[in-house]
Amino acid sequence: MNETKIEEFEIGAIRPPSEGGSHSLLLRFTRNCPWNNCTFCYGAPYGRGKFELRTMEEIKRDIDRAKAISDMIQETSADLGQGGEITPKVVDALFQKYPEARYSNSFTSVLNWLNAGGKTVFLQDANSLIMKTPDLVEAIGYLKEAFPEIERITSYARAKTVSKKSFESMVAIRKAGLSRLHMGLETGDDVLLKKIHKGVTAREHADAGKKIMAAAIELSEYIMPGLGGKEMTDQHALNTALVLNRFSPHYIRSRTFAPIPGTPLADEYARGDFQFLRPHGLVREIGKFIENLDVKSKLCFDHATNPCYRSMSGLRYVFHQGYEGYQMPQEKEHLLSIVEEALKIDENRFPKVEEMAMMAR
Ligand code: SF4
Repeated sequence: MNETKIEEFEIGAIRPPSEGGSHSLLLRFTRNCPWNNCTFCYGAPYGRGKFELRTMEEIKRDIDRAKAISDMIQETSADLGQGGEITPKVVDALFQKYPEARYSNSFTSVLNWLNAGGKTVFLQDANSLIMKTPDLVEAIGYLKEAFPEIERITSYARAKTVSKKSFESMVAIRKAGLSRLHMGLETGDDVLLKKIHKGVTAREHADAGKKIMAAAIELSEYIMPGLGGKEMTDQHALNTALVLNRFSPHYIRSRTFAPIPGTPLADEYARGDFQFLRPHGLVREIGKFIENLDVKSKLCFDHATNPCYRSMSGLRYVFHQGYEGYQMPQEKEHLLSIVEEALKIDENRFPKVEEMAMMAR
């Protein structure tokens, strides 16, 4: 009987799809969202839970636990002559040796991570940058010491928080090992930003974006087509493109607005106070956004909420869903031709908003 016990580490609710694609190790540096106020979200992915900073002791203990599981797996692989690889033989042996591993989320997470190469880590939850810079630097440093082979460390961040950090702090965080940030711009239109209670202006967001880029941290920006409904579609498309043109992030990722039950914007929609775009209107809005975009970014549609339609072979997405997307500006004309073709497809073949909302969950 093996005496070693698997100790669980905390794993939060969500991560960006691209981090799921690379099976990133998920480590929770903070809990929930410190803002919880955007009217389309309301911190719903985190159950509207109260925001908490985790202590350095908790964070380091979780890293130690992930490391202990990783060691268990790699030692078993080495003992079986598999040179650290996760083969079916290794997995069988691990489940024999540690029967509780079958029911351990932490074990499964580390196993999948190592199997995918063990190179990427995502720091959960909604805004790790809110940690004091020396604390974040210390925690990332500890993580890199435990796993020197890590090549990419990523986190979500709020632009407002970045705007309060000095450039020197951002450089220190990058030097510690943080290599990519995901930020939600949603829209570059100030009227809409105010309406959705984003808590940041377009200018503050652009300045935060510039600061991140200047600190040599990779930047992924999220935009939300459809967020302004019929009423604000033109200004939403145009101003979102104009803000992104000011700092040209590495990635721009599209997630179409879909009402999440229990959020103020979903209530507005249910009352009939929010006029959702029809599918062609949504595709047209994306087209207008692309037309006005002047960036060197990769434009990605890597989420289930992006425009799709029913075909003989099932649901087809208008744009491909790859995590590396379309390279701008080289593929701009190609993207605009995709938009033109999509507008020729019968609108009734596109899912309704309610169905899109289901896809988002
Ligand atoms: S969109 Fe982000 S910042 Fe806004 S409430 Fe949701 S998790 Fe918080």
